[in-house]
Amino acid sequence: MYEAYWRGMGDRCSLVISGSEVMSYLGGNPGGACWFLEPELEKSIRRIHHLVGNAAAQAEDGGHVVVGTGSTQLLQAALYALCPPDQPEPTSVVCAAPYYSCYKEIAELLQSKLYKWEGDAHNFNKDGPFIEIVTSPNNPDGLIREPVVNRPNGKLIYDLAYYWPHHTPITHKADYDIMLFTFSKCTGHAGSRIGWAIVKDKEVAAKMTKFMEVTTIGVSRESQLRAAKLLGIICDDCQAFSTNTKSQNFFDDSKRLLTERWDKLHEVVKRSETFSLAKFPKDYCLFSDRFYETHPAFAWLISNNKVKDCASLLRGHKILTRSGNRFGADATYVRVSMLGREEEFNLFLERLSTIKIGICNGI
Ligand code: PMP
Repeated sequence: MYEAYWRGMGDRCSLVISGSEVMSYLGGNPGGACWFLEPELEKSIRRIHHLVGNAAAQAEDGGHVVVGTGSTQLLQAALYALCPPDQPEPTSVVCAAPYYSCYKEIAELLQSKLYKWEGDAHNFNKDGPFIEIVTSPNNPDGLIREPVVNRPNGKLIYDLAYYWPHHTPITHKADYDIMLFTFSKCTGHAGSRIGWAIVKDKEVAAKMTKFMEVTTIGVSRESQLRAAKLLGIICDDCQAFSTNTKSQNFFDDSKRLLTERWDKLHEVVKRSETFSLAKFPKDYCLFSDRFYETHPAFAWLISNNKVKDCASLLRGHKILTRSGNRFGADATYVRVSMLGREEEFNLFLERLSTIKIGICNGI
């Protein structure tokens, strides 16, 4: 979805790296909390959070920046860092359903002795230490979330991948012990595989860094430089926009596009007897200085009671989605991406509007 915006930026966003540059494992931050973090990237990360106001990420806020190969690697690093190795039982990992399907996969992949996936946080009633992942806005349903377990022996990881003004109003400056962000969802450059964590505790930041050191000996320096450059350009444009609202800025442009898409989808769903969608409340955005509603990266479609397997129904109409049961919900739900290319999105709407299964008819 964002390709057109970046294409429009032309050579301003190009980055030339000669054959002799960034060759070493070691970059310019050997004494820092995260030794492989490129200083330019750290600067851009702190700057964009300062401008957007979505997270306490300035040096004076006391947070350490840790870079990862996507926030996917950082989540694994956080689990490693937060789970003491000497516990009789693995630490429980939970997240309120519907949850981002990769958490379960990540937590179960290595059958670790450190941690164990325990599923939906709403049903969690075990004693002992636990980690709750709080995703806000949530993937798949776009809702703003708070922790649900609320017991003293728990630790929280906030996944704030979508807490950016094109997706949701920025209502407060997030200030939590571990906050995960990703270049993938901020600018659309998922292929660069850059994520970052803002971590309050120096020892936790050091353990997360150790995880990246052992698993991948750092994080691609080329990718970090590209992320630094593009985040910096977004910041420059946001600053220019604050004095001249005719200029372009990434968040505003992307929000406009997402709003259009959501309006079109709501129109199609309103005419359908087969599907429905939740409505999101409006909130005041401190960054944009106005009220608007969340426009998530995914639509969480619910089918009526005659459809038992919504993903299969849609697949039959050449629409590929991820079934609700992958997210700890049931198969009447599906998650659909809102971020595809324009022609894909229009085709999706066209196909969706042809599906007519009334509540009484059945299939
Ligand atoms: N967290 C959430 C909530 C996500 O939706 C995604 C990507 N779908 C990620 C993390 C992973 O992001 P990355 O590309 O940085 O690994």
